[in-house]
Amino acid sequence: MNRTLKIAREFHWEMGHRLPFHTSGCANIHGHSYKLWVELEGVCDANGMMMDYGDMKKLIMPIVDEFDHCFLCDASDDTMLPFLKTTGFKYKVVPFNTTAENLVFHFLDRLWDVFDPFDQVSGLRLRLQETDISYAEAERVRKG
Ligand SMILES: [Zn+2]
Repeated sequence: MNRTLKIAREFHWEMGHRLPFHTSGCANIHGHSYKLWVELEGVCDANGMMMDYGDMKKLIMPIVDEFDHCFLCDASDDTMLPFLKTTGFKYKVVPFNTTAENLVFHFLDRLWDVFDPFDQVSGLRLRLQETDISYAEAERVRKG
């Protein structure tokens, strides 16, 4: 019997950012200890396993490593981008405001591409925590 279940693993990284449009604190350069819960929905194989947590880690860590200890910069941030280009600091440019909401959709698109080839996985839910008291969540489910 192919019962559906969910498995999840947590990932962490440190990252700086700012929100240029923000009218108070978040416009300043600051950082967060980000926490991303990656939850897979699907079915198990004959061994009672949907996916090895170690394999999940191997698939996801290259993406996490792109962001770890970088400054995440909105491409339209004309204050930070020229500065970052003159330093050797790690930074990454994205075409959106670096809100938790936009970030969780960014990771959802990237990780959907990663897990789409696995037939046993039928859904992906991400919970991105910027702080201990706030998160943004998004999910995608395989059609048909
Ligand atoms: Zn922030």
